Amino acid sequence: MKYISTRGGMAPQSFSDILLEGLAPDGGLAIPEQLPRLDADTLESWRGLSYPALAVKVLGLFADDIPAAELERLVHAAYAPGVFADDEVVPLRPLSEGISLLGLSEGPTLAFKDMAMQFLGQVFEYVLTQRGTTLNILGATSGDTGSAAEYALRGKRGVQVFMLSPHGRMSAFQRAQMFSLQDANIHNIAVNGVFDDCQDIVKALAGDLEFKSKYRLGAVNSINWARIAAQVVYYFHGWLKATSGPGQQVSFAVPSGNFGNVLSGHIARSMGLPVRRLVVATNENNVLEEFFRSGIYRPRDAVHTYKTSSPSMDISRASNFERFVFDLVGRDGARVADLWRELAKTGQFDLSAELPRFESEYGFVAGASSHGDRLSTIRSVFSADGLMIDPHTADGLHVARQYVEPGIPMLVLETALPAKFSETLEEALGRRAPLPPALADLENRPQRVDVLDNDAEAVRQYVMARAQL
Ligand SMILES: *Cc1c(COP(=O)(O)O)cnc(C)c1O
Repeated sequence: MKYISTRGGMAPQSFSDILLEGLAPDGGLAIPEQLPRLDADTLESWRGLSYPALAVKVLGLFADDIPAAELERLVHAAYAPGVFADDEVVPLRPLSEGISLLGLSEGPTLAFKDMAMQFLGQVFEYVLTQRGTTLNILGATSGDTGSAAEYALRGKRGVQVFMLSPHGRMSAFQRAQMFSLQDANIHNIAVNGVFDDCQDIVKALAGDLEFKSKYRLGAVNSINWARIAAQVVYYFHGWLKATSGPGQQVSFAVPSGNFGNVLSGHIARSMGLPVRRLVVATNENNVLEEFFRSGIYRPRDAVHTYKTSSPSMDISRASNFERFVFDLVGRDGARVADLWRELAKTGQFDLSAELPRFESEYGFVAGASSHGDRLSTIRSVFSADGLMIDPHTADGLHVARQYVEPGIPMLVLETALPAKFSETLEEALGRRAPLPPALADLENRPQRVDVLDNDAEAVRQYVMARAQL
């Protein structure tokens, strides 16, 4: 499989070539030149496969330049027992209301980003070793992404991780999760500033092209195609678990921010998986819901990006959305480039002419929820099923309920465990969510972190002293 850019300006490249890059050279995102179509017989032959065995089948289509035996080894290491708490890796849990939860949060950081990051960590190490090179990951986090990256890259050969976070602004649980890692290649830097300051420092250093190439800086952001590919697997897995024969349709409801998770659903559907609806669920930061309702894409500025009780969906701009727009406009890279030029100039673009196709052709529908909706959804599931769900999953379930159809299973993607967002659980239920037993002592473990001033030069010196070249 070869990859091209959504803006049409990149010669076709292999999976390994695009793996270590961020944006394509023309500013677009890498996307398969052509997706494989899977027929019903192939899908039926995958019934009964374990999660890692299924992942080998699906990822083998995308990463076909990695020798099959090597890919099999990497995938089995990524989804090994002991990495994910549940034997099935991704359990499917039915609720009494006829909706099911697809459990994507059994990994080390209790959120769905582990599903893709664990594969990314394995494949990074493999490709770096093959090419005899190294990478120094520089990132900023307000919590979730940074910890998933650290747990995936800890102890990996050829990779150092420099993760900036705002000093004193993460929850005690988030701090303990990241700072208790003792691996020598993990460097936690608490910056005296807010999250935006951390991001500005990363931008300043990565934007210094000489420094970036000399110190081999890289990133593990949500536009990385390997992450999207790894997420495609659990749509197949969910479908296989929720159906019993060929052609049966299911719908998925996906708590969304950067449009990464649900984009993988779109890819799975485009490969022939019988998906009826892809329900895009947002919180009050409803840029995506607005698009699917009106056809107008209008990202927000920082002032209009609200801090909510589903904070991992508090985004102003959906980084992966461009990959869907590419399909929507007939895979016309020049048209995509035009739309993003217009976006830069006017702050929005208008695809309302395509509105009727969003659902009929692609299955996309959308909805938004409020803090009150999340609390009442958490309460209703707890009273009906005795089960605690996290506020992001509650966003998904709230919107999913509006799109349930008779005879079509609705799978809500569980994107985090409630223990990660205990404050909101306490507000909803008057009690905190229990920690998984393996993490009971997490906050008492010794922590490793260096506090630096809000100063790009200080971070530059820190990286220079520790980078692996
Ligand atoms: C990242 C995240 C999301 C949003 O996923 P996208 O791929 O950015 O749309 C939802 N829930 C949780 C818990 C997350 O960490």
